[in-house]
Amino acid sequence: MILLDGKVAAEAVKEKLKAQVAELTAKGHRTPKLAAILVGNNGASETYVASKVKNCAETGFESLLIRLDENVPESTLLQTIEQLNNDESVDGILVQLPLPKHISEQKVIATIHPEKDVDGFHPINAGKLVQGLPTFIPATPYGILLLLEHYHVQTKGKHAVIVGRSNIVGRPMSILLSSNIPMGNCTVTIAHSHTQNLTDICLQADILVAALGKPEFVTANMVKQGAIVIDVGITRVEDATAKKGFRIKGDVAFNEVAPKTAAITPVPGGVGLMTIAGLLSNTLQAYLNNKKA
Ligand code: NDP
Repeated sequence: MILLDGKVAAEAVKEKLKAQVAELTAKGHRTPKLAAILVGNNGASETYVASKVKNCAETGFESLLIRLDENVPESTLLQTIEQLNNDESVDGILVQLPLPKHISEQKVIATIHPEKDVDGFHPINAGKLVQGLPTFIPATPYGILLLLEHYHVQTKGKHAVIVGRSNIVGRPMSILLSSNIPMGNCTVTIAHSHTQNLTDICLQADILVAALGKPEFVTANMVKQGAIVIDVGITRVEDATAKKGFRIKGDVAFNEVAPKTAAITPVPGGVGLMTIAGLLSNTLQAYLNNKKA
């Protein structure tokens, strides 16, 4: 069994990006800049945004963190996005999800300029993804592709089963793995909460992507011997024995599933770190596309 180590693969991606940025700045260009907006103080969102900001610094990117109060009016958030859209020094914009209930995520995503939408959630970018046109691939599926590439996983002709159909993970992952791209060309099945005989379907997977947000849902009886298992899930599970009072659990029961697999991602230390690598890759792309770089 090979451990698909997100730390190792993300470092490799970041080293490449860092070298590209160093080369550009040595030629007198400015540094790429990512603006992140955090609304409220959800614990997990705080951690994700802090990690994104830290990784920007480590890769030689500039970052700008804008914090808005939990009760901020939707109009203020939209205006803040417009200001960043018009700021030529900002290459990428991300608004950390989820947002408080009084704010429409759809409106927020649609307000980010598609050329600065480094999360790849804007309907224009999602449409381009479907048509195989150059676009920003949503960071988590992008990170998974980078991970598969790093470990030279052969995807062509394989049956990939994706559990979860969200716009940010499952759906774009299904499009990418079924596309005619180097880490694609799979036959794809996408499963969701209405899927019948899920165990039988998962057992057919050469590549199983678990992205449903249910801790340790995928058990050994659902996994074919020799499968490649990608665990996207991140759930905080209360645990009084843990320092922080919780532990991070994936969607896969790692200890029982790992021995059956050819390769598997750990949680933490797998897809989460690759998501940031995907985001940074998109930010550099946005910078390179930006005529004012
Ligand atoms: P969503 O809640 O948006 O989507 C979950 C999907 O799983 C839905 O399509 C849902 O089906 C499906 N589902 C739920 N229960 C079942 C079930 N019992 N059987 C089959 N399918 C089921 O979640 P996200 O896609 O946003 O996130 C999924 C997980 O990945 C979460 O744990 C999240 O924290 C994590 N995540 C990790 C990231 C990383 O960087 N590693 C980045 C983003 C997310 P239906 O559509 O029918 O409701």
